[in-house]
Amino acid sequence: MTDKRVIVIGAGIGGLAAALTLAAAGLDVTVLERADQVGGKMRSVPVGGSAIEAGPTVFTMRWVFDELFEEAGTSLEAEIGLRPASLLARHAWSGRERLDLFADVAASADAIAAFAGPREAEGYRRFCTRAAEVYRTLEGPFIRADRPSPVDLAQRVGLAGIGSLWRIQPFATLWSALGEYFRDPRLRQLFGRYATYCGASPFEAPATLMLVAHVEQVGVWTVEGGLSRLAGAVADLAMRRGARIRTGAHVARILTDGHRVAGVELADGERIAADAVIANADVSALGTGLLGADMIPAGDRIPPRERSLSAVTFGMTARAQGFGLAHHSVFFSADYRSEFDAILRGRRLPPDPTVYVCAQDRDGDGGPAPGGPERLLLLVNAPADGGERPLTPREIAACETNILRKLSACGLTLEPTEQATITTPDGFAGLFPGTGGALYGRASHGWTATFKRPGARTRVPGLYLAGGSVHPGPGVPMAAQSGRLAAAALRADLDSTARSHKAAMSGGTSMR
Ligand SMILES: Cc1cc2nc3c(=O)[nH]c(=O)nc-3n(C[C@H](O)[C@H](O)[C@H](O)COP(=O)(O)OP(=O)(O)OC[C@H]3O[C@@H](n4cnc5c(N)ncnc54)[C@H](O)[C@@H]3O)c2cc1C
Repeated sequence: MTDKRVIVIGAGIGGLAAALTLAAAGLDVTVLERADQVGGKMRSVPVGGSAIEAGPTVFTMRWVFDELFEEAGTSLEAEIGLRPASLLARHAWSGRERLDLFADVAASADAIAAFAGPREAEGYRRFCTRAAEVYRTLEGPFIRADRPSPVDLAQRVGLAGIGSLWRIQPFATLWSALGEYFRDPRLRQLFGRYATYCGASPFEAPATLMLVAHVEQVGVWTVEGGLSRLAGAVADLAMRRGARIRTGAHVARILTDGHRVAGVELADGERIAADAVIANADVSALGTGLLGADMIPAGDRIPPRERSLSAVTFGMTARAQGFGLAHHSVFFSADYRSEFDAILRGRRLPPDPTVYVCAQDRDGDGGPAPGGPERLLLLVNAPADGGERPLTPREIAACETNILRKLSACGLTLEPTEQATITTPDGFAGLFPGTGGALYGRASHGWTATFKRPGARTRVPGLYLAGGSVHPGPGVPMAAQSGRLAAAALRADLDSTARSHKAAMSGGTSMR
């Protein structure tokens, strides 16, 4: 199999994980990335003289990367610096209402009791138990396995697991399920926010997304150099295992020989032959024909209203005063439902947004603030209408004003020291073609949405998919896992083709 040439389109984490797995197995791998750096959404942006992480900042489910690096003959720790965070996040609703969540369930329960009373703390403990059950039920048959249909999933969990599958309430929304654990609307909002980790609204996402709470409980790590560095580490290792990575290489078309994938054509007309291709571009790029009309059936054409959330991000350096920022802090809107109604139905930015702030120079234990200006990423959710309806300069200015008003209502004032680097849905649409700025593929709304994500294998022989728009879903570890699943499917198919070819050859010989 080592003579087989594989092209990976895109150096997002799904593409890089697939490339590393295949290169470590001895295949001839070339990654083609249109941007001038690897990592895709795991990127940093320059602000003044600093690099600000402008993509993912919360690193969980490290087992995916532990296994990825171990399979490639090294370990995650050997390649990158990681520290477990004891303080998961600080949450604020006003100048008076603050709540910290910790890696330690007992410490969080105490904090919740002090914040909202013992009944809510008891609800939190029950919620943790249920979220753990949801995760345990789904890790093996869903996250680690090929994309199932609902029937496959029921078969995979088996008779013993059906009870758990039912208890995880696949047909309820996350918001309604949270009502069974929390009476305090602020806690429902806090835990409902986990739906946005998949770009979904808590009012429409299935209750199964409570597994995100468990994933954070198991561990959040801060990564030295940020998550863009983690992508760099996977790319470096893939190259050490023999993969070639070319940046500034935009794939315009996937080529076939009439039956199966035969290679790709770059925007400058260069053609590169391959026995198999893994597309790490968003499935919408395939579904809208951006990689060739023949490839449309392999992708997904996601209507704008079924896209996941986009975001407006501000990468900045600023002096922060009046509020003790943690590494991760969240400032909540007064009315979550009208916030999501504005974004998903009104297709506009809400006047009172929930604001996430990553204070990148602070540790994950609530340690002291750096003296002087610090690096911050501010993020609010936004409709994924980039490309079709870019935000106007006025809307962007209003967004900034609304963010600063929210922060200041909670006691935080920011004094920027440099011009911020802003990325809007339109900017994301430009970076990730075909998406309209949606950052997580198809929105996980309703219980069937999960099953609508394509799996690694496609209808086009020799073409495989990897990335956050593919099973098992978005987020750094899940997208990396999709890359591992794509690599496994590709190797299995090449193996079986080689075996049947060999059988046909030996059959032919005996005939003579
Ligand atoms: C602001 C933000 C915050 C986030 N926060 C978190 C978080 O805290 N934790 C978390 O786990 N996840 C988070 N996520 C989600 C996470 O970053 C993504 O799910 C994950 O990184 C997606 O990886 P991917 O494999 O889909 O590739 P992508 O990152 O989508 O990269 C795809 C790559 O393909 C390239 N490409 C596309 N078309 C072509 C072509 N035709 N030719 C060549 N190259 C092409 C693109 O340039 C890109 O580099 C966040 C995302 C964003 C944007």
